[in-house]
Amino acid sequence: MISVEEALTRILAEIAALPVSHVPLADALRLVLAEDVVAQEDIPPFHNSAMDGFALLSTDSQLRDGEPPRLQIIGEVAAGYVAEQKVVEGTAMRIMTGAPVPAGADAVIQVELTRSEGPHSPWVEILETVPPGNNVRPAGEDMHKGQTVLVRGNEIGPWEIGVLATLGWATVPVIRRPHVAIVGTGDEVIDVHEALQPGKIRNSNSYLLEAAVRQAGAVPHRLGVARDTVESLREKFAEAMQHDLILTSGGVSVGDFDLVKNIMTEQGEMHFWRINMRPGKPVAFGHIGKIPLLGLPGNPVSAAVTFELFGRPVIRKMLGHTRLVRPQIDVIVADGVSDRAMRRHYVRARVEWRDGHFVAHTTGNQGSNIMTSLLNANALVIVPEGGVEVHPGDTAKAIMLNWPEV
Ligand code: AMP
Ligand code: MG
Repeated sequence: MISVEEALTRILAEIAALPVSHVPLADALRLVLAEDVVAQEDIPPFHNSAMDGFALLSTDSQLRDGEPPRLQIIGEVAAGYVAEQKVVEGTAMRIMTGAPVPAGADAVIQVELTRSEGPHSPWVEILETVPPGNNVRPAGEDMHKGQTVLVRGNEIGPWEIGVLATLGWATVPVIRRPHVAIVGTGDEVIDVHEALQPGKIRNSNSYLLEAAVRQAGAVPHRLGVARDTVESLREKFAEAMQHDLILTSGGVSVGDFDLVKNIMTEQGEMHFWRINMRPGKPVAFGHIGKIPLLGLPGNPVSAAVTFELFGRPVIRKMLGHTRLVRPQIDVIVADGVSDRAMRRHYVRARVEWRDGHFVAHTTGNQGSNIMTSLLNANALVIVPEGGVEVHPGDTAKAIMLNWPEV
């Protein structure tokens, strides 16, 4: 049996980022940029006004004989248009936010600091002295032509999308999304819409994993359930091999019908099997042909937890991310963990911020078949291997399942 850390290291060593693809800008959210983004123009592209007001020569804003200067209004420039006239000494032009500052003018005074006879006034009085550049947003103030604004490896969020749109990137080079085959196993497993029969249970794992795979940023392909026969598994794996990663659940334990390992060895290679953890000891990792296969346990909680610890980092690495694992923090375990395990124990818990501390409450029965104790959990409290006891009020590490990877 190997440790969780060794398992993750060995798995990730076999995984590389996928090739580049070009996607429409609106589809780039949460993907990883595959090229540097260099501005091909100044942003903003032209000097423009930061205010609604009047464009003028700043020297014209000085008091004249102790009186506010009165300037002749020679026109108006709205956002989206370019003034044809030039502002010269003694004149001003009405200007709106975002409009290009007309030639000749070197400042804008906001409308609140002026007096006029309303929208058709032929004159405007300037009530305050303004310096050159006042309320003028210079071309290139935000980004200048030739500037590297984003780099390869950046994750694309809403703000990056805004910057890419500003620079005219209608399509974006990204690391493409992995396609993940999800294969259930077991003669007892029937589909959700089927009526329960004696001895049968519904396929929760494939649906749970499908959602978790999608949440991790990959494209899931739920391929149904293989029977507990070599033939049925071979058939499913032939289909699964069309994808970038295969996730199975069940069939990797020590029972007579746990055949996933056999097929892995037959059609590829099994790198390891069994991890010193609970829930989720029977995890197998290997390749079918060239496609990595992560064989997750059949018990739903084990499948869920091992997907979080191993499957999700694999998908993130394929997506080109460099931050692969969830953060761990110190928590006070309010209720303690009473059952002692020799294996590393990942205890489902709810962590909340209370009076200056992160406090964990475990979510109930920790059996690997008890799905309801996943429901309220946002963390896994880590109880070290070796039968360590956690008493109420003890401090422990917890993996925050709803915090971004670090
Ligand atoms: P196995 O490792 O195949 O022996 O499965 C371990 C346990 O997980 C058994 O109780 C199975 O019935 C259960 N199990 C296996 N696959 C699924 C599945 N797709 N959905 C729900 N439970 C499953
Ligand atoms: Mg089985």
